[in-house]
Amino acid sequence: MGDGTREINQETAKKVLAHVDEQEITEFLQGLVRIPSVNPPGDVRAGMKYCADKLAAEGFTIDYITEEEEKPNLLASKSDGDGPTLLFNAHIDVVPTGDESNWSHPPFGAELVNGRVYGRGAGDDKASVTAQVMAAVALARSGVPIKGKLIVNEVADEEVGGVLGAQLCANDPNVQPDFVIVGEQTLNRVCLGEKGGAGCNVTVYGRAAHGALPWEGVNAIDGMGKVIVALQNELQPILAERTHPLFKPSSMTVSMISGGVKANVVPDQCSIYVDRRIVPGETPEAVRKEIEDVAIRAIAGIEGMRVEVELGPMGGREAHHCEPGDPLPKAMLEANEFLGFNAEPTGFSMGTDGRHFVANGYPAIVYGPGDPALAHQPDEWVGVDEVVDATKAYALAAVSLLTDE
Ligand SMILES: [Zn+2]
Repeated sequence: MGDGTREINQETAKKVLAHVDEQEITEFLQGLVRIPSVNPPGDVRAGMKYCADKLAAEGFTIDYITEEEEKPNLLASKSDGDGPTLLFNAHIDVVPTGDESNWSHPPFGAELVNGRVYGRGAGDDKASVTAQVMAAVALARSGVPIKGKLIVNEVADEEVGGVLGAQLCANDPNVQPDFVIVGEQTLNRVCLGEKGGAGCNVTVYGRAAHGALPWEGVNAIDGMGKVIVALQNELQPILAERTHPLFKPSSMTVSMISGGVKANVVPDQCSIYVDRRIVPGETPEAVRKEIEDVAIRAIAGIEGMRVEVELGPMGGREAHHCEPGDPLPKAMLEANEFLGFNAEPTGFSMGTDGRHFVANGYPAIVYGPGDPALAHQPDEWVGVDEVVDATKAYALAAVSLLTDE
């Protein structure tokens, strides 16, 4: 299985691309953006049915993997003969709108202005969902015979970790893809993999006392101040030097803080969350230990104070990437080349649902329309041209991985 790709055949490509229709793609995307699927609570049923209906009409077999009723995960498949399984994955759930007065286009209006569709999820991730669905539709309508199986896997739950979404699908023994293309905003660049994450909870413990008698206590917030400064001065510069050709450098962000119990009490506890994003070569446990070492040194000599550093609830994950010559990225890179798009491989510096597939041993790359810098913002938008381009590229990648032509 997956014995490689061949040069994209001009005639076959023409047959498939003839069924990529800008008007239909735009309308499908607008329709999907107009179906709110905000997470939390993450009810994606209506959006999922919208995609399923489109694919069912083209002869795809519709299945769902569902653990929580409001969070079904679609598996729309088409298969013929022996051959590899290619799985398209993207997510239907979207983050909340935030204060709607910061939007100049209604977040679920899907207004089309100057070639851009505006709305929550327009880019993240309904542009990718649209391109994947419409690529599958184009392939089906072209009548080009496939050898193997194409699965369109649109999922719930991505914005809160994917446990009830992509992870369920990736763990299912009936879903065993040879190739996974995860749709997220890469500006239609081919991302060979993604950074890892190793977020840590750091807690400084002191001793409570009356706020008027501070010498009787040990102030945990003061201690945490030293820890944060030490992380900035000692660790940050090291991370900036820890680079990898595919990714942005290793990084840390102190993203949350809490401490103290009352205005007139010396705090006995203060916690921060350090959002650590890691490059190949770093491991979650080594990253945890590195933070711990800095933190312990920062408060050394303060009697009655100690610090604990634990990996966050997900436990962390290493970065992953495949090689540009592997069949999956090769097919995607050739599609971009064929279409005259950027065919220089790169990496994705944010987390995606791809990690759940990689954890099960399935190769995954990331590719999709939209700019990650616009995700989760007010007035999120995507260019219709980008969505059309992605539709073409997904379709051609499927052609080279799943057909003999
Ligand atoms: Zn996303």
